[in-house]
Amino acid sequence: MIVVIKKNQEKTQVDNLINWIKGLGLGVHISEGENSTIVGLVGDTSKVDIDLVRTLDIVENVTRVQEPYKNVNRKFHPQDSVIDVGGHKFGGGHFQIIAGPCSIESEKQIIDVAEAVKRAGATLLRGGAFKPRTSPYSFQGMGVDGLKLLKKAKAETGMPIVTEIMSEEHIDDFEGVDVMQVGARNMQNFDLLKKLGKLKTPILLKRGIAATVEEWLMSAEYIMSEGNPNVILCERGIRTYETYTRNTLDLSAIPVLRERTHLPVIVDPSHALGISRFVKPMSLAAVGAGADGLIIEVHNDPPHALCDGAQSLRPEQFADVVDCVGRMLPVVGKELD
Ligand code: PEP
Ligand code: MN
Repeated sequence: MIVVIKKNQEKTQVDNLINWIKGLGLGVHISEGENSTIVGLVGDTSKVDIDLVRTLDIVENVTRVQEPYKNVNRKFHPQDSVIDVGGHKFGGGHFQIIAGPCSIESEKQIIDVAEAVKRAGATLLRGGAFKPRTSPYSFQGMGVDGLKLLKKAKAETGMPIVTEIMSEEHIDDFEGVDVMQVGARNMQNFDLLKKLGKLKTPILLKRGIAATVEEWLMSAEYIMSEGNPNVILCERGIRTYETYTRNTLDLSAIPVLRERTHLPVIVDPSHALGISRFVKPMSLAAVGAGADGLIIEVHNDPPHALCDGAQSLRPEQFADVVDCVGRMLPVVGKELD
């Protein structure tokens, strides 16, 4: 971190700042110029409150030269992290396709969809039991009963399962769940993130609806700093001024994240656009941009889905997406396994 001191400041005030920095256990490198004094902070500055330093009267400007995240930072872990979910690997050239309904609605529905997406080539099964709905009057998911049905679908198809956890209260009910999803609305639910950090279960961390890449990485840091290294990031669209689609899929986040972090990154084109006919082109674009996988909503009867029918593919449409993605993967040096 570099702190530029305003011109002609009292020495005692500058010394106070320097002593405060040293008191934080950091080294200080001072460079006195004609017009300003520059103070370089040496050491782990992740605990320094940059906004506080910025507001000091004697300070002209502060620049962070080191990212505030350590565990997720590629600088300290140059190799891609590879996260194994029941033999299916995320990252390091592997590619996964997670598919299934937005929410679990009945035993027949989840088993039928699970079998259909498996036949089409999906490698993991998704299905929401606890649903974060904008309206309290909308279907809220089947809860614990839904989780039981999802586990049944896992037993019948052998597919690992991915489902959203909304509250730490439910952690015990998630025994047997292969990937716990933290939804966009909970990306900064820090208590939940800390609790999930105590587990070893892979966490699918979706990007918050208005989160910057750095805020998202800091949320991943919450999980990793508690000891869980198994974090998969998921770009699911952010809110912009555009209204033709539900959100705006920020594919530029993928190459940016690739530089910043070693964690795998997947894309959810269903929630990003909210319209089923756009899922295929954006899935292919995500592959081109370097995603490590996709998560796609599939329903056997979209018009009657209890949640997100407009963005859900029918199984045959999903099969076409898998086929096209499969043909693109060799071009980007990845493998669906
Ligand atoms: C979901 O995956 O069903 C979901 C609600 O996702 P998001 O948190 O991205 O809106
Ligand atoms: Mn959904």
